Amino acid sequence: MLKTIFNFLVLFAVFSLICFAVFLFYSKNNDLLFFTDPHHLVNTKNKTSLNIEKTTAVPEFHQNRTAMPAASGRPLEPCPDIPPNLQEVLYVEFRTNRTLEDVRQQVGPLLQQGGRYKPANCVAKQKRSPGLFRKHRPSLTTRLGESDPRYGVAIIIPFRNRYDHLSHWLHYLHPILIRQQLDYSVYVINQEGDGVFNRAKLMNIGHTEALKEYDYECFVFSDIDLVPLNDRNLYRCSDKPRHLSVAVDKFNFLLPYNNIFGGVTALSREQFLKVNGFSNTFWGWGGEDDDLYQRIVFRGMSISRPDSVIGRYKMIKHGRDLHNDRNPNNVQKLNETPQTIDRDGLNSLSYTVRKIRKDLLYTFITVDVQTTAGYGRVGGGSGMYSCVSAVVSSVHLYRVSSEQMS
Ligand code: UDP
Ligand code: MN
Repeated sequence: MLKTIFNFLVLFAVFSLICFAVFLFYSKNNDLLFFTDPHHLVNTKNKTSLNIEKTTAVPEFHQNRTAMPAASGRPLEPCPDIPPNLQEVLYVEFRTNRTLEDVRQQVGPLLQQGGRYKPANCVAKQKRSPGLFRKHRPSLTTRLGESDPRYGVAIIIPFRNRYDHLSHWLHYLHPILIRQQLDYSVYVINQEGDGVFNRAKLMNIGHTEALKEYDYECFVFSDIDLVPLNDRNLYRCSDKPRHLSVAVDKFNFLLPYNNIFGGVTALSREQFLKVNGFSNTFWGWGGEDDDLYQRIVFRGMSISRPDSVIGRYKMIKHGRDLHNDRNPNNVQKLNETPQTIDRDGLNSLSYTVRKIRKDLLYTFITVDVQTTAGYGRVGGGSGMYSCVSAVVSSVHLYRVSSEQMS
């Protein structure tokens, strides 16, 4: 009896050993659930799905914009300094009626919500290299070395009640900016109500709100009614604050005065901070762009421009808007830039965001700019750009100086 029990136990032990060996063999080849930390399993799963998102889906705002491994696993190369698909001279007309829906159909599939784009196959550059498009260019390595490919461009548009202009601008600019291989987003900063307009304050607000979404390195400030006629005019920043709209059809493609800095300008985050942004106190039309120019000079910088072939623009014809009359007090304020630069600007900006709407073509931010009563008399007037320069502009028309050209 004892022997039988003993035999049975031996058999049982051998059988158990065999089972254990088989079990170990299989557990090597398969991740058996109860041998794996359940948390680890969940994490692995998440990681995998994120990786899939990174390589196949379009990244969200807060995802890293730096070089991401391509589907092949290799990191993306920087985009070429000179984008390969530029068309150079463009045909632009504003007679055609364009609805936002038309534009959405045309360029929407290439964009992400908020009017965002980044090239799929290379890492965009936000900075122009010196000497770009010059005949004798520096070597490729120098040019690549000088560019910082890491960050994006925020395009800031001051806005109120110019919806037809908005459709034209989006229709022309999105394809241009895509051809320029920029990593960019479009912010339309809409002044709420019918108080006196404040273009400069809207620019400061656009800069501040954009930076809440992403660490932009370059800011292009553009009027809604200016469309470039040459896509070699890159919407990137430069080692100097850059004036892009140098040759506007309205002025026979010449600079109305030498220090003009209105229309379309590009400043790096560092340059814009250095001048404390725009003044917030230029209510009504005129002067804020000249004040910015003076801030730049006061902080020891100078500006750069494309030449007058690359820097050509077409402006949509319009009359003076309601509640944006020329403000004669702004001329006087231009004498005060050195005193006001440190206390009036980004560091004193005060406003309320009413609504942020993400359209496929742009981010639309409606703001209360806290229009002050009693900012001074606002008289009627006409012309373009600064009120100071309005006097000068009828007398002198300038060509871009070679010193500014790059
Ligand atoms: N703007 C606007 N609504 C207004 C007034 C101005 O959207 O009621 C914006 C728009 O982007 C415009 C810019 O502010 O292009 C500059 O104003 P405006 O076009 O009157 O200036 P100018 O043509 O004289 O440079
Ligand atoms: Mn205009």
